[in-house]
Amino acid sequence: MTNGDAIRLHPYRRAKVGRTLGSVDLAESVRTPASWVVVGLDNGGTCNNATVLDATGRYLVDHLVENPSLVTDGPESAIEQLAQAFHNILELTSTPLTLVRAVGLDTPGPASARGVISSKGATNFSQVSWHGFDIRSALEARIGLPVFYLNDANAAALYAHHQLFGAQAMQRSSIAAIVGTGLGGGVVEEGRVVSGAAGMAGELGHVQIPLHGVLEPGQPVPECNCGFAGDVESIASLTGIKKNLLPYWFTRFPDHPLAAEPLPVAAKQLRSYGEKEDPLALAVFGQQAKAIGKLFTIAANFTDPDAYLLGGGVVEASPGFRQWFLNTVRESTELRAEQQSAATFALVADLDMAGARGAAVAALETVQTA
Ligand SMILES: [Zn+2]
Repeated sequence: MTNGDAIRLHPYRRAKVGRTLGSVDLAESVRTPASWVVVGLDNGGTCNNATVLDATGRYLVDHLVENPSLVTDGPESAIEQLAQAFHNILELTSTPLTLVRAVGLDTPGPASARGVISSKGATNFSQVSWHGFDIRSALEARIGLPVFYLNDANAAALYAHHQLFGAQAMQRSSIAAIVGTGLGGGVVEEGRVVSGAAGMAGELGHVQIPLHGVLEPGQPVPECNCGFAGDVESIASLTGIKKNLLPYWFTRFPDHPLAAEPLPVAAKQLRSYGEKEDPLALAVFGQQAKAIGKLFTIAANFTDPDAYLLGGGVVEASPGFRQWFLNTVRESTELRAEQQSAATFALVADLDMAGARGAAVAALETVQTA
């Protein structure tokens, strides 16, 4: 055995004794710290995605591992599917159950900080049996291990933060805006998601922004499904394009080929036009980038983060287009000179795996500081 092995063994054995109180398995006691793990489970509308993260911060899975989530069948089926995802990923990575310290679970919201689905239900949890359902406790009871919960956008934000900062993650802060059907994201302080008293911190999509410099003269104030007017999501989301931006911009470009399409089709096709520098598409995406810049300007004066992160469909766009979008966001974010030299702007990568990976990071952090 080398010195390096001896050094690595020590913290693991110390932690292990504290947890199992004498039931130490001999085979396990010679493992390195890397041999205890947490599991991350990302619960989506159609699929669960699972990953395993070891105590040294290494992912044991480098691709999507999915099973059907069956959320539309109600909580009972969905919890079974999550348990199956959990056991499948252990089998796939040859990880014994005894090495798992905790599970991180993320789902779309709205839900409480402790994983209780909104009493009014949610897009993915519309069946009445989901209303007010405690998905975190139910999974914990089913698999017999501690389960930590966070919402999917916060999980993606946390993963992006750790991926960007690596070993410095726990000393850094960031804000992430992820453009999808809505506008999700999260606020990370010293490597941890800010969840808030009611679990509603980091609902960046519903932050109302100053609209001067974003809207054209005479353009109606966009409305969000949440009931707010002029919040970030009313502009910087697929829903915002469909409901607010395209209806206005088609009045300015009545002969545009997309004007003949139904709005949902036109909204989805718009990015491909943006990649070809189509003036209407650039006007729409330019407004989105400016809206995100206004949000980041608020963040600059609120938490003054080390990094401003941007994710969503735009990351999958052609390199030229996504760089233009990121540059427009950056130019629309008003930072002071000191902030400009301290802050980073970056795109969030690996979004497919970000939920499961972020949930695993949250579980690992919780175990390490317990
Ligand atoms: Zn809103």
